[in-house]
Amino acid sequence: MKFDVSRFFEKDRKERIDIVAKFANLTEQERQTLEGSGGISFEQADKMVENAIGTFSFPLGIATNFTINKKEYLIPMVIEEPSVIAAASKAAKIAKMRGGFEMQNDESYSIGQIQVVNVDVESAMQKILKSSKEILDLANSKSNTLSKIGKGAKEISCKEIKTDAGPMLIVELLIDVGDAMGANVTNTMCEGIAPLIEKITNGKVILRILSNYSTRRMVRGTATFEKEAVGGQETVDNIIMAYQFAAYDEYRAVTHNKGIMNGIIAVANATGQDTRAIEAAAHAYASKNGRYTSLTQWDKDNDGNLVGRIEIPMSVGIVGGIINVHPTAKICTKILGVQSASELACIIGAAGLAQNFSALRALASEGIQKGHMRLHARNIAAAAGATNDQIDTLVKKMTSEGNISINRAREILGEL
Ligand code: NAD
Repeated sequence: MKFDVSRFFEKDRKERIDIVAKFANLTEQERQTLEGSGGISFEQADKMVENAIGTFSFPLGIATNFTINKKEYLIPMVIEEPSVIAAASKAAKIAKMRGGFEMQNDESYSIGQIQVVNVDVESAMQKILKSSKEILDLANSKSNTLSKIGKGAKEISCKEIKTDAGPMLIVELLIDVGDAMGANVTNTMCEGIAPLIEKITNGKVILRILSNYSTRRMVRGTATFEKEAVGGQETVDNIIMAYQFAAYDEYRAVTHNKGIMNGIIAVANATGQDTRAIEAAAHAYASKNGRYTSLTQWDKDNDGNLVGRIEIPMSVGIVGGIINVHPTAKICTKILGVQSASELACIIGAAGLAQNFSALRALASEGIQKGHMRLHARNIAAAAGATNDQIDTLVKKMTSEGNISINRAREILGEL
C-alpha cells in the first residue's frame, strides 16, 4: 500500500500520528501511548536501575522517505539534537530516486570469551578443540529457546595472547543469538562452560564474558545519490574530498563518524537497543587497521553520481533487554515493521549512511551552521521563556540579525 508522507514536517502532531498509526496499523492503545508522555512508569524504572528517583524523556520523531532493500519505512528516531531527523529524511529522499539503500548483514553471531591462565597454551588448545562437541552441547543446554529454533553455540576457537602477566589462552564461543542482542545468553553460556574448560585445560578461568566487538554481526550497504539532486558535480566532488579528509585524518574521522552515529544511535534509542555496545564496536572497527578512520566510503559512479558505502558491526535485537518492557520502544519497533534483528540492523546501518550523506553535503556546500542554528534558535527562544505563539517571531528576528543568543532572545521578548 502507498502512503502519502509528503510534507510530513508541515503536519501537526495529530496528523503525524495519524499517518504513522495507519502506516504501522497501530492499535488505539498504542496510539494513546504515543500521545501520552511516551515513557516508562516510575515503577518500571525502579525495576530497571538502582536508586531510581524518576524518569527522563527525549524527543521522538519520524524520519521519512526511506526505501531499504525495496521496502518502505518510517523510521522512529529518539534524539535531542536538532537537524538529525530532517537530514536523514532529506538524504533518504535523494537516495530513493535511485532505488534507496541496499543493505545486507551477517548472521547474528555473538562472541563469548573465556580467559584461561596458568596453562600450557599449546596443549590446552588441542584439548579444547578435541572436546569442542562436549563444550558446545553444554553451552547449548543453557538455552532451550535458542536450541529449539536451531540457534545457539555453533563454534569454538582458541587464541593465545601474550601479556605482561605471561601467556594466556582465550577460548572463544561463537553463538547464533537469533533475534536477541544476546549479551545475557552469551554470558550465561560462557559461565556455564567455564568449569568444563578448567577441567579440560588444567588451567584457571578468570573472565567469562561477551565481547562487544561484534565482528560476526556486520551490516553493510550502499546507496547512490544523483548528482543533480546532490547539488551538481562540484558538490559531489567536494563531498568525496571531504570523505578523503576523514579517511586520512583521525581528528576529522572522529567527527565524521559521530555524524554517522547521530543516525544510528537515534534509531537504536527508539528501538531500545544497548547504544553503548553499538558505539564501542563501531569505534573499534573504525580502528581495525591500526589507525582510526571513516566507517563509510564515498566515491562516484561513471555518470558522476555520488555512491556511499557503510560497513559497521551491529549488535541489535528485537526481543529481550528493554525491548519487551519499554512501551514506546515496542511501538517504534512495530512502526518499523521489522521481522528480525537482521532487518533492524539493516535499517540502522542505512540511517547511519543517510546521516553521513547529509552532513557531508552540508559541510561541502553551505556549511552546517545555517540550518543548525535555525533549529537551535527555536531551543534558545524556548529557553528564554517564549510561548509557542512567540517562538516563530523570535526565531525570525534572531536569524535575520545573525545573533542567536539567549541574551538577544530575552531582549526581543521584552520588546514584544
Ligand atoms: P535477554 O536476556 O532478555 O535474552 C533474550 C531472551 O529472548 C532469551 O531468554 C531468549 O531465549 C529469548 N528469545 C525468544 N525468542 C528469541 C529469538 N527468536 N531469538 C533469540 N532469543 C529469543 O536479552 P539479551 O539479548 O541476551 O541481552 C541484552 C541485554 O543485556 C541488554 O539490555 C544489554 O544492555 C544487556 N547487557 C549487555 C552487556 C554488554 O553489552 N557487555 C552485558 C550484560 C548485559
